[in-house]
Amino acid sequence: MEGSVTWIVVPNDDALRHDILARFHEDPLAGHPGSTRLVKLVWRSFWWPHLVMDAENFVRTCSLCQHNKALSSKGRGLLQPLPVPDAPWESVSMDFVVALPETEGGYDSVLVMVDRLTKMVHLAPCTSSCTAEQTARLFFR
Ligand SMILES: [Zn+2]
Repeated sequence: MEGSVTWIVVPNDDALRHDILARFHEDPLAGHPGSTRLVKLVWRSFWWPHLVMDAENFVRTCSLCQHNKALSSKGRGLLQPLPVPDAPWESVSMDFVVALPETEGGYDSVLVMVDRLTKMVHLAPCTSSCTAEQTARLFFR
């Protein structure tokens, strides 16, 4: 009969169902469709209970999709780079590397100060409980 659809009812076999979803989702021509389009593609030939739920779970756990799909939320705007400093040590980035093995002097962290212009680095030993005042003293020293 014209217009009729023949479905293959897939048995209750998680590996088989996963394999079918993978073939449709990872087909180079399909290009990792979202769950709605994936269900439509699978429905052309196959059916099983909870196909929609299985497709949603499959797409949600696809590592390629998680890494590459653009966010559907509002855009993030343009990158706003910091201005380039005019002189060395005019603008300095600071970071703590913490929870290191404790030294004989009792230090377990390092304050890393980098000049944003020359990328010159100064390191200062400190502790993970270093206060703002202690950090300022280290910085000026
Ligand atoms: Zn994917």
